[in-house]
Amino acid sequence: MPDAVAIVLAAGTGERLGLQAPKAFVPLGGRPILARAVSAALACPSIDLVVVTAPPGSEDLAHAIVEPLGAHAVVTGGATRHASVRAGLAVVPEEASTVVCHDAARALASPALFEEVLDALPGWDGVVPAVPVSDTVKRVRDGAVVRTEPRDELALAQTPQAFTTSALRGAHARAAAAGLEFTDDAAALEWAGYRVRVVPGEPGNFKITTVADVLRAEHLLVEAGGG
Ligand code: C5P
Repeated sequence: MPDAVAIVLAAGTGERLGLQAPKAFVPLGGRPILARAVSAALACPSIDLVVVTAPPGSEDLAHAIVEPLGAHAVVTGGATRHASVRAGLAVVPEEASTVVCHDAARALASPALFEEVLDALPGWDGVVPAVPVSDTVKRVRDGAVVRTEPRDELALAQTPQAFTTSALRGAHARAAAAGLEFTDDAAALEWAGYRVRVVPGEPGNFKITTVADVLRAEHLLVEAGGG
């Protein structure tokens, strides 16, 4: 019986990378981004199933990449990240108590971070890793500063994010009914009134979006000897 299930979101087109292949299939140190993200999830002992959302038309390729890694299911992703999460949730077994949502694009998240968000979940509906903001942040509208936000109250959210399955399903159902889309799952829970806890994220766990991010990730892998 699955306890924690991970949904690895890999259905983005990776337009901002400007390459032919969807981002999840781009190699990083010789291994596709998708393989790295799925391996990190499956290295966490509490996670016994990974659901991958694949770009439409690339399901077989996604399956071929994750097949050697362990227990998984591949579903066709949706037009938006949230639609992809809903497609993944649809195949999460009823008896799974916990779901971890992870962006494949955060290919350098450590297995330890999956453990940390799961360990922090009891007593809460969701857990999000976040790192402090080092820049001064302005709220800007029409080219003018509206105000400067107090930096000590700001944090940059990452994935993996852990949720009780019931809260994640509840928040997504309510957001879908209201026609709302959020850029991460924690935001859907916050909007729906669930309690979301923050744990320290990892500085190296950035989202790979541009070619410069790919080069930075390659550099970190070489430094860590894990290229
Ligand atoms: O586009 P964004 O940076 O928010 O994507 C975050 C993650 O969600 C990526 O790993 C991407 O592959 C995934 N995604 C998805 N389905 C979409 C859009 C994005 O699974 N329709």
